[in-house]
Amino acid sequence: MEPDIKKLFFHVLGRERFQDSPEERAVYSYDASRAQFLPDAVLFPESVQEIAAILKIAQEHRIRVIPRGAGSGITGGALPVQGGLILALNGFDQILEIDEDNLVAVVQPGVVTSRLQAAVREKGLFYPPDPASMEFSTIGGNIAENSGGMKAVKYGVTKDYVLGLEVVLPSGEIINTGSKCVKDVVGYNLTQLFVGSEGTLGVVTKALLRLLPLPEATKTMTAVFADMQAASRTVSQIIKDKVIPAAIEFLDAKALWCVEHYLQLGLPEGAGAFLLVEVDGDPDLVEKDIVKVRDICKANQALKIEIARTYEEQERLWRARRSASASMAHYGAYKKINEDIVVPRASIPEFIARVEDIADRFACPVINFGHAGDGNIHMNVLVPEPEDLERGHQAVEAVFDVTVELGGRISGEHGIGLSKRDYIDKNLSPEVQAVMKRIKAGFDPGNILNPGKMFKPE
Ligand SMILES: Cc1cc2nc3c(=O)[nH]c(=O)nc-3n(C[C@H](O)[C@H](O)[C@H](O)COP(=O)(O)OP(=O)(O)OC[C@H]3O[C@@H](n4cnc5c(N)ncnc54)[C@H](O)[C@@H]3O)c2cc1C
Repeated sequence: MEPDIKKLFFHVLGRERFQDSPEERAVYSYDASRAQFLPDAVLFPESVQEIAAILKIAQEHRIRVIPRGAGSGITGGALPVQGGLILALNGFDQILEIDEDNLVAVVQPGVVTSRLQAAVREKGLFYPPDPASMEFSTIGGNIAENSGGMKAVKYGVTKDYVLGLEVVLPSGEIINTGSKCVKDVVGYNLTQLFVGSEGTLGVVTKALLRLLPLPEATKTMTAVFADMQAASRTVSQIIKDKVIPAAIEFLDAKALWCVEHYLQLGLPEGAGAFLLVEVDGDPDLVEKDIVKVRDICKANQALKIEIARTYEEQERLWRARRSASASMAHYGAYKKINEDIVVPRASIPEFIARVEDIADRFACPVINFGHAGDGNIHMNVLVPEPEDLERGHQAVEAVFDVTVELGGRISGEHGIGLSKRDYIDKNLSPEVQAVMKRIKAGFDPGNILNPGKMFKPE
């Protein structure tokens, strides 16, 4: 970077908070997608005014800026694919207010999701979005990706909790959208436009988040079935019987095999699918619901059912589901390509059957687990050897085609970013993409904010 331009940033941040040493650049060159691109420098702003000043300089000198939270994104959203400056927001981490009268939390974007959850829980309140990365992901990243979690089936995803935002636009203007009001229909819903915009329209610097009362009781159970058909029938029946569990998670036969090797659960003979169901709410209703769910599992020939009686047992049951990703190492593949497609939940059995065919056709095993309640499946193509990589990618594309045929979407929660931008045509028509690009150009005519994401470069 030109020394004169560097000086402009020093003027805003001082030398300490503008870092361009090779070490610092390397640390911020990757995220959980495992791709790597070196930024030109890393900036550590401490106020919204500093972020506004940074973006004004960047705008004037056509310098790219990439907002970054914890870097736990799986689709490369926080990577400087075309170089530029990383705007490190994880230090922007104050919980500014927990407003118990209005059930709203006001937070900075660098607050780690689980920290917010713990802070509101102390006051008997509940912030439901719970991505599996919540121990390290930030609220800013969650908003930018519209992250979901295990409890989406009952409580929805991040967008359902964002009431308002403070955002710095690529021009350096600071705007406030939305309000603490539950109802607010004044003008376009800009708040929701920023949610899921993957850091391409503006930098979120403050968020007003809706809270709920903490559910009084929770019950967790697991059930093992002979196959996914029986497990899926169970899920459909639970929903039809008007029980909306807080979570319904599944593991397919291969995922179950991996978890068994990892945790030695002691599975019954013939186990081919696993469900975890959690219900929460009023204690009496929770008791009734868990019995209803157990009976439905029995009616669908569950091979084994366990209901947790204590918090420790509940955690033990959850361990099986939470270990799914780590336990796949037991398959010993060269690489795993993981995607997070979503299909209408009744299509899960057909999806899994067709993915089995794809796995055979491309000779790459596929392991599925995820959110049976909302149809969001973590689908992992295992590439046996380095020379099979091309075939692995072909298998992924074939899975995307099946997803679309079943009325699904190529991402349910991880976003498009860099790794899925080449597939966006599968879900979005040229007309829809053109509208989205016009929105981007309206906010960011110079294309300085997080360029190269979501859409293929022209
Ligand atoms: C083990 C693991 C489990 C995961 N489980 C889930 C899951 O269950 N559900 C799920 O949805 N995701 C999951 N993820 C993906 C990831 O954690 C989420 O996408 C998360 O929201 C990213 O947050 P982050 O702070 O790490 O953001 P980053 O990775 O730093 O950034 C992600 C995107 O957000 C943008 N961004 C960050 N902060 C801001 C800001 N303040 N303003 C504007 N843009 C910003 C970045 O530019 C980038 O485009 C998982 C990831 C891992 C590694």
